[in-house]
Amino acid sequence: MNEDQKKLDAHFTKLGWPYWKPYEILARLVEEVGELARIINHTFGPKPKKATEEAQELELEVGDIYFALICFANSNNINLSDALDKCIHKGETRDKDRF
Ligand SMILES: [Mg+2]
Repeated sequence: MNEDQKKLDAHFTKLGWPYWKPYEILARLVEEVGELARIINHTFGPKPKKATEEAQELELEVGDIYFALICFANSNNINLSDALDKCIHKGETRDKDRF
């Protein structure tokens, strides 16, 4: 686990929360991505915000996505730092001439 993963795991331990099942976390992750998409559409796209809707912050929605992603990684024994390193390596090798 990286430091953020350890921080969230300690939070779950403190509150006595279990991690959800993988498909439950995936559903939550997709839900949060949808919330981010809504903000993007309101901010940069053609969809106006309803007058009754509360303001949403981009940073908070990205945080929600990160939270859900860390939950998924922690419950599946994935080190996110290692996963990122592998993706970077893939970009520098397999995909280096792709873009
Ligand atoms: Mg959210």
